[in-house]
Amino acid sequence: MAAKSYLDLKSEVWDTGSCSGCGACVAVCPADSLSFYEGEMVTGPTSNGYCKLATDNVNCGACYAVCPRTGNQPAETLGTYLELLSAKSTFEVPHKQSGGAVTAILANALDEGLIDAIVTVTEDRWTLKPSSVIITKTDVLIQQAGSRYSWWVPLLAALKVAVIGRKYKRIAVIGVPCAVQAVSRMRDSDNDLIKPYGKAIRLVIGLFCTETFDYNALILGKLKTHYKLEPHEIKKLNVKGKLEVLKQDGSTTIVPLAELETCIRKGCHLCTDLTAVLSDISAGAIGSSSGSTTLIVRTPAGKGFVDRAVQNRKLDVSIGVDTAAIEKLALAKIKRNSKK
Ligand SMILES: Cc1cc2nc3c(=O)[nH]c(=O)nc-3n(C[C@H](O)[C@H](O)[C@H](O)COP(=O)(O)OP(=O)(O)OC[C@H]3O[C@@H](n4cnc5c(N)ncnc54)[C@H](O)[C@@H]3O)c2cc1C
Ligand code: SF4
Ligand code: SF4
Repeated sequence: MAAKSYLDLKSEVWDTGSCSGCGACVAVCPADSLSFYEGEMVTGPTSNGYCKLATDNVNCGACYAVCPRTGNQPAETLGTYLELLSAKSTFEVPHKQSGGAVTAILANALDEGLIDAIVTVTEDRWTLKPSSVIITKTDVLIQQAGSRYSWWVPLLAALKVAVIGRKYKRIAVIGVPCAVQAVSRMRDSDNDLIKPYGKAIRLVIGLFCTETFDYNALILGKLKTHYKLEPHEIKKLNVKGKLEVLKQDGSTTIVPLAELETCIRKGCHLCTDLTAVLSDISAGAIGSSSGSTTLIVRTPAGKGFVDRAVQNRKLDVSIGVDTAAIEKLALAKIKRNSKK
């Protein structure tokens, strides 16, 4: 099949509102021609107009090849797995979202030298503005624990810096399912321009995801303007059938999800993957009791990272995950978004 260029990506994905905003195309473009601009509800990347394939007829097609919105979308509930565990960190993770298990697995991996960098999403704790980041130190990782629901930043664009710029060879990526799908395409690709990315990624941790919110629309629009909540007053956001906004003063504001429809990124309405079925390890809150993380350990590599964290007493695991609860939520997402 002839390679497809950014023009195909534009017509099939950017212009149709199906872009998830994962940033994979931006990372792998060898001409650095693609980028995201800042603003409310940015629906896709833009190009500076130069394209190796479209302009110079050089075989490329990297951007199209890694995009999770081309071809079939995963639509499974639990996906294939080796183990289902409830897990928690054995050490204090002050900002952890669930059980701190994701932080514990990665802290152990960094301390043991199993990975040299983590590509993930961080936030400015004053403005809550998210940004993609490359973490190489355990203390920074622990400081950055917690979920960014208004995460939208082109997370994988940071892979360009990690792989090509800084030449890390043992990278862990944490991402929501759309980002995980793009990384899976990188790992499977036989395109010479994409292979360095796939080879450098040693571990992929996928976070369960029903939808994500645009920062400007949720934090500045809905919460600041409508609910009069300054970003720096917010300690933690949690989505559990409603948005719980836990404030620094200990009080909680509840926002019904129905009010947040307009804050959801457009591309999320087409997404049928709750549990990141293409990851090495998936992690979520649902299925375990409060204070624990559900881990779906999918690959031998993922199991190796979990086992090492347990052996080094950084992670406690138990069985007894409520699989029915996860399947119900996953099926609801598939049904809701398959129709569109
Ligand atoms: C947008 C979003 C939606 C989610 N929706 C659900 C849901 O519907 N149901 C459910 O059960 N679980 C959901 N989760 C997962 C859940 O919130 C926790 O992330 C998960 O349980 C792991 O908890 P933990 O305490 O082990 O992670 P922690 O130990 O707190 O570590 C979390 C790690 O994830 C990284 N991170 C945070 N946000 C992002 C992001 N947006 N992209 C990439 N990396 C990030 C942090 O940097 C940190 O290293 C969602 C997460 C996100 C980000
Ligand atoms: S989904 Fe990701 S790879 Fe596809 S166009 Fe959007 S940002 Fe690029
Ligand atoms: S709902 Fe799907 S497209 Fe939207 S952020 Fe989550 S994984 Fe990505």
